Amino acid sequence: MEKIDISSMTLPALTEWVTGTLGEPKFRAGQIYRWIHQKRGGSFAEMTNLSTALRKKLEERAFLTVLTTRRRLESKLDETVKLLLELPDQNCVEAVLMRYEHGLSLCISTQVGCRMGCKFCASTLGGLVRSLTPAEMLGEVYEAERQAGEPISSLVLMGIGEPLDNYRNVLDFLTILSSPEGRNLSLRHVSLSTCGLCDRIDELAELGLGLTLSISLHAADDETRSGIMPVNKQYNIARLMQSCKNYFAKTGRRISYEYALIAGVNDSPAHAEALARLLGGQNCHVNLIPVNPIKERNYVQSEEKAVLRFKKTLELSGNNATIRRELGRDIDGACGQLRKKFLE
Ligand code: SAH
Repeated sequence: MEKIDISSMTLPALTEWVTGTLGEPKFRAGQIYRWIHQKRGGSFAEMTNLSTALRKKLEERAFLTVLTTRRRLESKLDETVKLLLELPDQNCVEAVLMRYEHGLSLCISTQVGCRMGCKFCASTLGGLVRSLTPAEMLGEVYEAERQAGEPISSLVLMGIGEPLDNYRNVLDFLTILSSPEGRNLSLRHVSLSTCGLCDRIDELAELGLGLTLSISLHAADDETRSGIMPVNKQYNIARLMQSCKNYFAKTGRRISYEYALIAGVNDSPAHAEALARLLGGQNCHVNLIPVNPIKERNYVQSEEKAVLRFKKTLELSGNNATIRRELGRDIDGACGQLRKKFLE
């Protein structure tokens, strides 16, 4: 019999399996769920308030996903900690712990590799290997909290992979993460970053979750954006703006736009003005990030002068903009760089 991963199941799904397949009373599902997501039991043997017979049944029919830390890098410049985490099939993903004034923030991966092909990103160089299961994404949170020795206060889905290219699993992950009987982290403290898969953004908007949407924009005109982000050929900027406005209208959550500044590519005064025009009037926030150079591409960070000028142009036209602090520069802080190096 093929074993089933019950650490990927939402409470309703687990309840159905426990009552239907195992023929056990409903409250057992709640007990098992709390063992996995609150007490963080890594094996059925630990679940001592379950009968021996039930634990045996679980051993025979189910398994639990647990991630282990292969490598832990601590920044000497700030308190950033980068973890290379091993999945049950030996694939590895990255998660990054960052210390902010308001607490500890974690950035997790949603796929092993990525198929979106953004030209400046290290995660996509080897293509997509596979998507993560809900349990694997939860495992990143649990293992990172174990490593940190304290709970995280916010989470961003901004590591390796495109979360909306793993839509169903990401939704189940968010359901378990935010459930009171599970990790109980409010989705108001969670951000999902996407390169702009508009049909999925529209679906997500209908769910009205408290989630913040981060859009990797990186250019305000289609020519420049298509040049660095192939996804723009499928969903152009006008289409993306339509989805963003709809998301805000349906959820009341203001959109956060990511803009990585690449010298000579998207950082001129004209680019800044185009961005200000595009966003003008939208209740949103712009994060300016000096691009993190990756050795496989010859993209160069914009000069500080250009970054400041860019910010000023946005502000003068009434747009909120901040320059993202670069955390963990010395430990390959940018997406996919550690996994990439590990594979070489
Ligand atoms: N696929 C999702 C989430 C993962 S990428 C997305 O595209 O949003 C997370 C963020 O890091 C995105 O904004 C992405 O564009 C950005 N990013 C990737 N490589 C980068 C680099 N070398 N320098 C700066 N930002 C980068």
